[in-house]
Amino acid sequence: MKAIRITQTGGPEVLKYVEVPDPRPGKGQASVQIKAIGVNYTDVYTRSGLNPPVLPTIPGIEAAGVVAEVGEGVSEVAVGDVVAYTGVPGSYAEKVVAPSWRLVKLPQGLEAEQAAAVLLQGMTAHYLCYSTYPLKPGDTALIHAGAGGVGLLLIQMAKWLGARVITTVSTEPKARLAREMGADHVIIYSRQDFEQEVKKITGGAGVQVAYDAVGKTTFDKSVACLMHRGYMVLYGQASGPVPPVPLPVLNKASLFLTRPILGDYTATRDELLHRAGDVLGWVRSGKLKLHIHARFPLKEASEAHRQLEGRLTTGKLLLVP
Ligand code: NDP
Repeated sequence: MKAIRITQTGGPEVLKYVEVPDPRPGKGQASVQIKAIGVNYTDVYTRSGLNPPVLPTIPGIEAAGVVAEVGEGVSEVAVGDVVAYTGVPGSYAEKVVAPSWRLVKLPQGLEAEQAAAVLLQGMTAHYLCYSTYPLKPGDTALIHAGAGGVGLLLIQMAKWLGARVITTVSTEPKARLAREMGADHVIIYSRQDFEQEVKKITGGAGVQVAYDAVGKTTFDKSVACLMHRGYMVLYGQASGPVPPVPLPVLNKASLFLTRPILGDYTATRDELLHRAGDVLGWVRSGKLKLHIHARFPLKEASEAHRQLEGRLTTGKLLLVP
């Protein structure tokens, strides 16, 4: 089969389109013939070495396709089922082998491409605002990078939960898109001081929660935007890792700090099916709007990474084998 493989970490050019042997499922596993692959910012961390992989490796952890073969003892899926998954390495490929418990069957009427475009970022938005800090009517949430893959979905869910949403983006076209998805206030943080703007919007009170996956360049000011007993939810580091945080930072206003990851919020099959069921169901019914920025042939994975890292994208990027 064809796949994207890296033998060294580095820039987008290390993503090479090569021929590799087809993987075969073992006990408790199934192989999936991939129809669409989701590109995620975490793939950039793997490629660049920020999250060092064991080399050589096939990057990518999200896709959708058709079950081609099942190993011994598999009960969750059968050959021919259309499925999607997250958290399975080796996904920039025509075929993958996955633990069968990670595979989610698609509801009738949902295309594989739609599932690959929403499952990871949608379940992330879901756990952030339903579980990590459950939003309630009257809350104000600060959501950074609101026109990104997670951002556009999180804005929509936060609005359903009754929160007021303040979001940050780097450009005017991104601001328009974030407003279209329901953001109440959009700050262009490439030219405005978002801390000052948040204070202005909230009359100095601050926000109940900051959902921050930009990291290094936003962390300190995000903390400064929190009201007493506020939640700093650091879930990514698109601008670079946040240096060690001295605990007294939290003293100032009885703050909470958490660094959540999706795997811990889909750790059991029940929890995975619950979140995936919500997210895929909302897309099928049209309640949750998807924004697919671009589809690239698998062999052009390096161009997808260049655009994602270059802050040139909005919503989702897909690779098509
Ligand atoms: P996005 O589509 O949101 O792309 C990243 C965005 O971050 C950019 O579009 C850009 O938006 C913003 N950004 C700010 N500073 C920089 C910078 N220096 N370099 C690059 N981008 C920057 O990606 P995803 O939706 O895939 O992921 C968003 C974040 O969420 C990532 O940090 C990712 O690691 C994290 N994540 C965490 C998960 C978890 O469970 N912990 C799960 C899924 C994602 P703008 O131009 O508007 O600033």
